[in-house]
Amino acid sequence: MPAMEREAGTAAVTAFDPGIEAHLGRTAEARQASYLEFLRIPSISALPEHAPDIRRAAQWILDELTRIGFEHAEVGETAGHPVVYADWLHAPGAPTILVYCHYDVQPVDPIGQWETAPFEPFIRDGRVVGRGAADDKGQLHLHLKAAEALLATRGRLPLNLRFLFEGEEEITSASLGPWLAANLARLSADAVIISDTGFFEGNLPALTVALRGNLYTQIDVVGSPVDLHSGGFGGAVENPANALAHIVAGLKDRDGHITIPGFYDDVVEPTAQERFEISCLPFDEAAYRAEIGVRALAPERGWTALECTAVRPTLDVNGLWGGFQGDGQKTIIPAAAHAKVSCRLVPNQDPDTVFERFRDHVQRLAPPGVLVEVTKLGEARPVRTDTAHPVAQAALAVLEAEFGRAPLLIRSGGTIGVASMFVEQLGLPLVMLGFTNPDDNAHAPNEFMLLENYERGLRTVCRLWDDLGAMARDGAAATTAGTAVRG
Ligand SMILES: [Zn+2]
Repeated sequence: MPAMEREAGTAAVTAFDPGIEAHLGRTAEARQASYLEFLRIPSISALPEHAPDIRRAAQWILDELTRIGFEHAEVGETAGHPVVYADWLHAPGAPTILVYCHYDVQPVDPIGQWETAPFEPFIRDGRVVGRGAADDKGQLHLHLKAAEALLATRGRLPLNLRFLFEGEEEITSASLGPWLAANLARLSADAVIISDTGFFEGNLPALTVALRGNLYTQIDVVGSPVDLHSGGFGGAVENPANALAHIVAGLKDRDGHITIPGFYDDVVEPTAQERFEISCLPFDEAAYRAEIGVRALAPERGWTALECTAVRPTLDVNGLWGGFQGDGQKTIIPAAAHAKVSCRLVPNQDPDTVFERFRDHVQRLAPPGVLVEVTKLGEARPVRTDTAHPVAQAALAVLEAEFGRAPLLIRSGGTIGVASMFVEQLGLPLVMLGFTNPDDNAHAPNEFMLLENYERGLRTVCRLWDDLGAMARDGAAATTAGTAVRG
């Protein structure tokens, strides 16, 4: 996750409200109990038997939103798991922020590697341990508690908030796009804040400013209707497994360069300054290699490993199968062979364009005698956010004030499908503000969130809402307040 240091001390931040401080102190125990209660609901989106738990989690959020004073709270039906929506829109003249988090979690396998039961969460040694503690129920919960603190203390929020909480993030957000399209009227906002990201190595405060996109494909190579005897037919027919190996070998050269014509055409190359900043990061390549447990790193020629995980696109075979897989020998020419191939994409690559070039190149590589089909299984566009936007500037300033260190700007190698949906479908500026510690074991056994990150994250959100509200009161419109925020 390459990142850049930003200039410190350039932002004016309002002092933390003593009334909120007192409220947070008074309610700390109840808040943490509520956090654990939320984590106890096993809202695993991938497993059908947990569908009632998903609904229970949605209802739990709905009840909380209603209790703390939000309006239009609704469990919104979709073709899949529901979304939860609510708003508070009584700050005329102040900006409107749409906040996104997700309440579904990953399955718990391998269950044997958990030191404790995944849905019996607890707090120990400053860690909140349990499935969803970090990704993403902890972050959702801190947004609820920040809004509650402001409303309980003052009876109002300093700005307008819309909450949108999804139940299918861990299974590719298939229903969110249609739901957004059907609810555009009530999603108008000055910016979207996605809280589903985290800090840099060493738990350094950070703002994620770019995400790679993704293109997922399958190649099916078919020779004969059934497997053939390799003695009787070997040499006379094309072997689909050999053909697939030939195709895969033709996608990338030994320098790690992707050989699909036009693949790099739309890639925005990082500037010399960006590459310099990445090279300045405290990144230990040998330790990184050792931690992964590989014999050597294999970055694209001309680029460092760190650059390759963030600013360069990739092409990887995710799975490869066909023919005889058992013990011993079976002398056949397989009827078919298959591969899953995916590409991480960087700005400004378009998944559809890349897919067409990929498909055409695979077909060119296909030898006669086999039928080759190329199917697109999924896609997400790469995203880059505008760090000069007033909401991003305000977020950087409060992160620094609350965590005591100028945040890093991270270009994440991963993909958050909803990020590109918000940009494309709502046309809204995006800020990816998340607080999880980088060693949080998200998607893995023993997931945890540092309580300190949760509590400071909560305070960061309170201060951010105050600062964005103050910008409006000071006469700067939400869309033109950049200079005011930068002082
Ligand atoms: Zn997540």
